[in-house]
Amino acid sequence: MPVDPICNQNVDEKTPFKSVYKNKEYHFCSDACKKKYDELDKSVIRVRRSLKDKEKISFGKLRREVIDPGICTLCGACAASCEVLSVVNGKPALTGKCTACGVCYNQCPRTITTEKALIGTVRDVFTAKSLVPEVKGQDGGVVTSMLLYAFEEGLIDSAVVTVKSDDEPWKPIPIVAQSREDILRSAGSIYVHSLTMESLMSAIKQGSRSIGFVGPSCNIDAVDKMTKSPYGLLHMFMRANILKLGLFCMDTFNYDGLKSYLEGKGIPLSTVSEMKIKKGMFRVGAGSEHEFPLGELDAYRNGSCTVCTDLTAEKSDLSFGGVGSKDGYTTVLARTGLGLELFNDAEDRGYVRIEELGREGLDKVLNQAKAKKVQMYMIKKRIKDGKGL
Ligand SMILES: Cc1cc2nc3c(=O)[nH]c(=O)nc-3n(C[C@H](O)[C@H](O)[C@H](O)COP(=O)(O)OP(=O)(O)OC[C@H]3O[C@@H](n4cnc5c(N)ncnc54)[C@H](O)[C@@H]3O)c2cc1C
Ligand code: SF4
Ligand code: SF4
Ligand code: SF4
Repeated sequence: MPVDPICNQNVDEKTPFKSVYKNKEYHFCSDACKKKYDELDKSVIRVRRSLKDKEKISFGKLRREVIDPGICTLCGACAASCEVLSVVNGKPALTGKCTACGVCYNQCPRTITTEKALIGTVRDVFTAKSLVPEVKGQDGGVVTSMLLYAFEEGLIDSAVVTVKSDDEPWKPIPIVAQSREDILRSAGSIYVHSLTMESLMSAIKQGSRSIGFVGPSCNIDAVDKMTKSPYGLLHMFMRANILKLGLFCMDTFNYDGLKSYLEGKGIPLSTVSEMKIKKGMFRVGAGSEHEFPLGELDAYRNGSCTVCTDLTAEKSDLSFGGVGSKDGYTTVLARTGLGLELFNDAEDRGYVRIEELGREGLDKVLNQAKAKKVQMYMIKKRIKDGKGL
């Protein structure tokens, strides 16, 4: 005897209340149960309609991002929302023609489909450049200019920044900057982990109570934990206001590996004036410009970076990156009220010029953020393909 799928009661096969879904007939005890069931189908149609004008997403994308890498939880949400999808041999698979409506992709618990899930809470997005002539930044020099503004306006006592070692070229040295000169010499990116927390502790021990702190998401997360965790040092014993300036970050490399890689290319670190990562390429300025595929540096990538999923330093007050902006500009995400207010004030006081980032720029940020979020999912596949972590 058939069972009504809504109320779970046995129903007479001759009931007038019937519906067909995925070529199967369902029987209901009453019109009310049938309407409820049909309503579920209608909601799929409604979601389909609302996704109609968005990017076309086919089942192939769900297969590539979730099923093939082996991270499908077999919850069945995709199959339940489409008549041409079923779980076959323990995997969701097509049983008919996919119309690329995107419904299955949007139901899956493993896909990332909102901006907030990709880049965290953001109040506003900008592209900006420094108006301070001495600042020679990695992109628009905005981080350095924000620090100069905060320091010169008396909003911070010091800044925790990273400079290049005088003894070993391109080795990162974290310092407590307490002068305009120190802040200016910290401009530029060094693609090696910097032990910034030691300097943060030194700054507090030296008496700073308002500190500008610069670092990628793993450093910002450490500040956040030390401030908020019940056993965090900054929570328990020390009191300091920390302005968190986060850097977008895809990778860092171990210093010796990077050194030997470049030496192998005939480029000693002592001759390098600039390093930049752009569009999957590692660019090095050393007299002339050199360019290498980023993948060649995989072996020297820090293990922590292969499991890191936060591109944009989501716990910062302000986040800064190169992606999304034209050359000579920095992309800025204002996250907190404090961050937004200080950024606008820095413009009013002539330290930075701010422009709108625009949809195209933001989409580039979202795409890079997604690549970082899903890299964890690819670990299984990388191991299977013999590429290691
Ligand atoms: C390791 C690393 C990886 C990055 N990866 C990306 C990326 O994939 N995509 C992207 O869009 N942007 C990335 N960035 C950010 C980008 O390179 C710029 O830092 C950012 O756009 C700000 O540019 P700016 O000219 O305004 O900064 P600047 O005014 O040049 O200031 C740079 C600041 O970075 C700090 N800094 C430099 N190296 C380190 C370090 N190793 N650890 C902590 N702080 C450091 C300095 O103290 C300085 O305050 C990365 C940065 C770093 C350090
Ligand atoms: S038709 Fe089905 S399989 Fe294709 S995208 Fe839509 S829900 Fe997914
Ligand atoms: S919705 Fe996602 S996790 Fe659930 S079965 Fe489908 S592919 Fe797997
Ligand atoms: S990729 Fe992540 S773990 Fe690695 S340096 Fe950047 S923020 Fe830190």
